[in-house]
Amino acid sequence: MNIDYLTQSANSEETVRNYLELMGRYERLMEISRQLNSTLELKALLQAIIEAATELTDTEVASILLIDPASGELRFEAGINPSSKVSLETFVVPMEGSIAGWIVRHGEPVLIEDVANHPSHFSQIDSATDFSTRNMLGVPLRTHDKTTGALEAINKRNDGAFSEDDVNTLTALAAQAAVAIENARLFQQSDLIAEMVHELRAPLNAIRATAHLLSRPDLPEDRRAVLVETIRSETERLNNMTTDFLDLARLESGRTRLTRETFEVAKLVDECVQVVQSQANERKLQISTQINEDVSLLYADRGKLKQVLLNLLTNAIKYNRDEGRIDIYAELVSGKSPMRIAVADTGVGISAENQKRMFQRFYRVADTEGYAQGTGLGLVIAKRIVEAHEGEMWLESELGAGTTFYFTIPIIEEEIAPPVVG
Ligand code: ADP
Repeated sequence: MNIDYLTQSANSEETVRNYLELMGRYERLMEISRQLNSTLELKALLQAIIEAATELTDTEVASILLIDPASGELRFEAGINPSSKVSLETFVVPMEGSIAGWIVRHGEPVLIEDVANHPSHFSQIDSATDFSTRNMLGVPLRTHDKTTGALEAINKRNDGAFSEDDVNTLTALAAQAAVAIENARLFQQSDLIAEMVHELRAPLNAIRATAHLLSRPDLPEDRRAVLVETIRSETERLNNMTTDFLDLARLESGRTRLTRETFEVAKLVDECVQVVQSQANERKLQISTQINEDVSLLYADRGKLKQVLLNLLTNAIKYNRDEGRIDIYAELVSGKSPMRIAVADTGVGISAENQKRMFQRFYRVADTEGYAQGTGLGLVIAKRIVEAHEGEMWLESELGAGTTFYFTIPIIEEEIAPPVVG
């Protein structure tokens, strides 16, 4: 790999000017570092790092690549490219034969003045994002004991070239950024684990208390059957919880990757209705679907969207009134997220106060506790899946009348979103 570091020749006036400029940069860097250390939300943090990198190096764009702790793969986690329709996050970057891979493996900065002609440039990203990389400076993201990724600043503004000061500034920023990313990841994990363990306590205590009662020799036979049933249903609840926990932990750590395929929306909706039909029949609920004729194919993660729809449908059944209705609508709307699906029910509804907390982890409306069992994670998981597709989810509801959940999925073309870059 060629590393073309620049050397500076300067007369004394220029040296003073450069020195002052450098001081200004370091002051700004200190300010940014303080800001980074106080951000524990990973997405916001990555965005702040990107903005800091472009500002400090005076470049057009920047990106962050992190090693996925589970698979060891190197992935784009964040980047600024306003003209791009494609999320960079779909890209896996090869460890061998890519510039970022080289930075991560060697733990050293790389400055390349002519990226297009560089043998390790992965031009598929440029072509997929309509972007042309001219020159770039990449530095490793390193905590005290390991390299966790790379930070790249791309295209010096005004057709400029990178200086050695840029290398030093970006390296200093990366050192702060790597620690802040590590902290945010740890914070997220510990927060989630604490909440999950707390939630496991209720069914575990119920099982322990029930087992204790069962062991009493004077217990009448009919009570015994009831207690055994309690243990069975609490175990079932624990089982559902662990599945939800794993799903959510993967989604929140960014380890869930979408497996996109092209499929017919109408078919997916029918399939979901079939799954819940018998449950709906038990409560004499009528389900109807209205798929607009402009809705046809979607290129998305079919399995995960099925999970979203099934969650909304089971909720619409669980929290409906007997002999109520469920209406499913699918249509194209204008704007950034053109495909919109709605699931409307005629159930208990959700108060304005509770609507605000609907997508919080483990939140269950107290009034509906008696209706049906649940983990209070279904909607959070559904929302995260929709957001992983860069869509949105929200609801409208009227207490006593019913609730409609909406979600949008942007339509992207299959060929502009290759999942893996060679
Ligand atoms: P779960 O149903 O497993 O408790 P969810 O995350 O799917 O978890 O839902 C969280 C809470 O939101 C539910 O406990 C219920 O109180 C409320 N809720 C969800 N969907 C509806 C709905 N369609 N109508 C009324 N309340 C709902």
